[in-house]
Amino acid sequence: MENQTIPPPVELKNPLVVSHKLLMGPGPSNACPRVLQALSQPVLGHMHTELFQIMDDIKIGMRYLFQTRSNLTLALSSSGHSGMEAVICNLLEPADKMLILIGGIWGERASDMAKRHGVQVEILKKELNRPVSLIEIDSAVSRFRPKLLFVVQGESSTGIYQDVEGIGEITRRYNCLLAVDTVASLGSVPLYMDLWNIDVVYTGCQKIIGVPPGLTPISFNERAQKVIFNRKTPIQSYYLDMTLLGQQWNCFSKDLSRVYHHTTCANLLYGLREGIAILVEEQLENTIKRHQTCAQRLYRGLEKLGLEFYVEEEHHRLPSVTTVNVPKDVDWKNVLAYAMKNYRMEISGGLGPTAGKVFRIGIMGYNATPENIDGTLQVLKEALEYSRNHSKL
Ligand SMILES: *Cc1c(COP(=O)(O)O)cnc(C)c1O
Repeated sequence: MENQTIPPPVELKNPLVVSHKLLMGPGPSNACPRVLQALSQPVLGHMHTELFQIMDDIKIGMRYLFQTRSNLTLALSSSGHSGMEAVICNLLEPADKMLILIGGIWGERASDMAKRHGVQVEILKKELNRPVSLIEIDSAVSRFRPKLLFVVQGESSTGIYQDVEGIGEITRRYNCLLAVDTVASLGSVPLYMDLWNIDVVYTGCQKIIGVPPGLTPISFNERAQKVIFNRKTPIQSYYLDMTLLGQQWNCFSKDLSRVYHHTTCANLLYGLREGIAILVEEQLENTIKRHQTCAQRLYRGLEKLGLEFYVEEEHHRLPSVTTVNVPKDVDWKNVLAYAMKNYRMEISGGLGPTAGKVFRIGIMGYNATPENIDGTLQVLKEALEYSRNHSKL
């Protein structure tokens, strides 16, 4: 040991302390105590039969939440971004065309990723404070004839709700695949993967499902699977290869079953199973209603505070993330700092195109209660007053 020149760090002799914060931003949200308890169950190996049962439960649970019968439904062992990357690297080959509906940072990011994969990217972008119409989508798809159209249902950077009903009929007509990012939206607005002819859907676990980040539920329908299995070039990412992941999750026929691909985090899977089980108990339509009722309560309260919405039309607003313009006489950083310092409450600023322009208030999963809405409004009211008085000094 005489070769050790780096001494044991004293910092790590202090116990781990994590304070409680109320996370009222666009994610992560606070995990439900039931989920936290599930996470602390004993570790299981990734090839243990008990874990296979838990993975199967997650598969059927996610089929319910996505409203799909698709066999290739599983959870990626990585955060929401990996859903985006999995869509691109499994369905597209270099020089394939992808049309991206850009309504904020998430469309931008998909474009960045796709270009790195050598995909030819076309953009459909209108004003960022309104969704894009079916007519605009139809005209862009007919003009570009992409292999894949990528749409974000809930743009958490702008607070836009992009209704995806009807888009699937358009993409079918032009022999194009449809992928939908529902990371911030699933559970706060309706989504019917099969009925709406959506070929790939993914969501995050740390937003409305209320599980710590790290897993990404995703589903590919038969049409998408045909494209994957008929590629000319290999899938460029080993880690996100859906043909291999599908085997580990036993999604295909028996002779392709349960091959080790990577070590899944058993504890996170327990958490996800519990998070889904809570939504199954509540039932999806009630979860959606709860989020929408909370959003209404928030809108009325924000109006009373004299704040203006970034998204004017109420039915264009994403119930899970509300964006309000930062008033001219207010320093947005002061407001956020006040809420955190005095109430340990997270309210967020803008992101990407809305950076410095809006506040973002999240209503997600376990946090979506009238009490939390009222509390957030109260803190925001005080924080705005503080910021106004502070800037006058
Ligand atoms: C949060 C979010 C993501 C990214 O998820 P990470 O877990 O941070 O990788 C992707 N899309 C949307 C719409 C989001 O809100």
